[in-house]
Amino acid sequence: MANTALVVSAHSADFVWRAGGAIALHAAKGYEVTVVCLSYGERGESAKLWRQPGMTLEKVKSSREAEAKRAAEVLGVHDIQFWDLGDYPITLTQESLFRLADLHRAIHPKFILTHSKEDLYNYDHPQVTEFAQHARIIAQAHGHNPGQKVLGAPPVFLFEPHQPEQCNWKPDVLLDIGSVWEKKRAAIECMEGQEHLWEYYTRVAQQRGAQAARNSDLTIKWGEGYQSVFPHVVSQLA
Ligand SMILES: [Zn+2]
Repeated sequence: MANTALVVSAHSADFVWRAGGAIALHAAKGYEVTVVCLSYGERGESAKLWRQPGMTLEKVKSSREAEAKRAAEVLGVHDIQFWDLGDYPITLTQESLFRLADLHRAIHPKFILTHSKEDLYNYDHPQVTEFAQHARIIAQAHGHNPGQKVLGAPPVFLFEPHQPEQCNWKPDVLLDIGSVWEKKRAAIECMEGQEHLWEYYTRVAQQRGAQAARNSDLTIKWGEGYQSVFPHVVSQLA
């Protein structure tokens, strides 16, 4: 069975800006990466589409889905799912919580990526962080669907939010995404509704790349930062 990874994205473009490098990197290594877009970000993260005349909620959603599918294809995503739970505010029901727990049980991810614990600029994001953590814990519970193989302890890494200093987010993992940067940039350019973010997230990748080089003996140009939730369990320190 192939290695797997799970990315829980509040809105349909979040996985691209915040985890596109990690997705493409692991897909290239043979990981089957599943991306769950809990909503399309149709109300809160589609400003450019709403400026077009005659726009409707359904048109925004279908446009966002098409963009996210194109980006997922560029990154080598194995499975992208759209749960259409609404945004601003996102509605995280008990039914969708169990659905996410069952997805953990179905694919047994080696690692999980989701949002930061705080985000003053977006109330959907931290709600999704808690939701994803809750689903992971339910999937670990022996009393949930007894008889199924319970989830182990996959590490959880939190995406870089838009303004990290305001969100108490501090990276303790810097991932070298140099080998897949072109793919991430191509995926970013699929997000036509948020063209104002293309250059911003290119600069973020350069900054994290420079910091990755400074914190290692490696030549790294492009990076992605994450904050880990749990201690790293290692058998030697270096
Ligand atoms: Zn978002």
